[in-house]
Amino acid sequence: MRNLEDLFLDSLADIYYAEQQLVKALPRLVRAATNGRLQEIFESHLTETEGHVRRLEEVFAVFDQEPKSKKCRAIHGIIEEVDEIAADNKKSPTINAALIYAAQKAEHYEIAAYGTLRDWARMLDNDRAADIIEEILDEEKAVDSTLTDLAEEECNQAAKVAVSGEP
Ligand code: FE
Ligand code: FE
Repeated sequence: MRNLEDLFLDSLADIYYAEQQLVKALPRLVRAATNGRLQEIFESHLTETEGHVRRLEEVFAVFDQEPKSKKCRAIHGIIEEVDEIAADNKKSPTINAALIYAAQKAEHYEIAAYGTLRDWARMLDNDRAADIIEEILDEEKAVDSTLTDLAEEECNQAAKVAVSGEP
C-alpha cells in the first residue's frame, strides 16, 4: 500500500524532470522572442528555473532521498507546442503574444503541481520542504503575472495591429 509520502515523492520526481526540461527549452524562447522586455523575462526565468532544479534537490534531501526524475509526458507535450507555436509565428508581429500564450501554459502546469506539493509537504509535517516549495511557487506566480502584464501592455496590441494592417 502506498502512502502520501510515496505519492509526494513520485510527484516531486515528475516536477523535477519538468524543471530540467524547461531549463533546456527556455533558451529557445529567449531566441524566439523579438520584444526586448520579453527576452529579459525569459532570461531571468531561466535563471530562476535553474534555481528550481537546485531547490527541488534540497526538498529531496530534506526527505533523505537522492534526487529522482520521472519522465513527465505533460511537460513534453507543452514544450512541443511551445516550439510549434514559435515556429508558426516566426517573423510575424504575433510572435511575442504567441510565446507568452505558450509559456503561460507551462507556468500554470507548474503552479498546479507546486500548489499541491506544498500542501502535501505540510500534511507530512515537513514545513522546511513546504517553505522551499512555496518559494518556487511564488516565483512561478510572479512570472505568470509579469507575462500577463506584458501581453496586455504591449504584445497583444502589436499582434492585433499586424492582423488588421492598421496602426
Ligand atoms: Fe519552475
Ligand atoms: Fe516556471
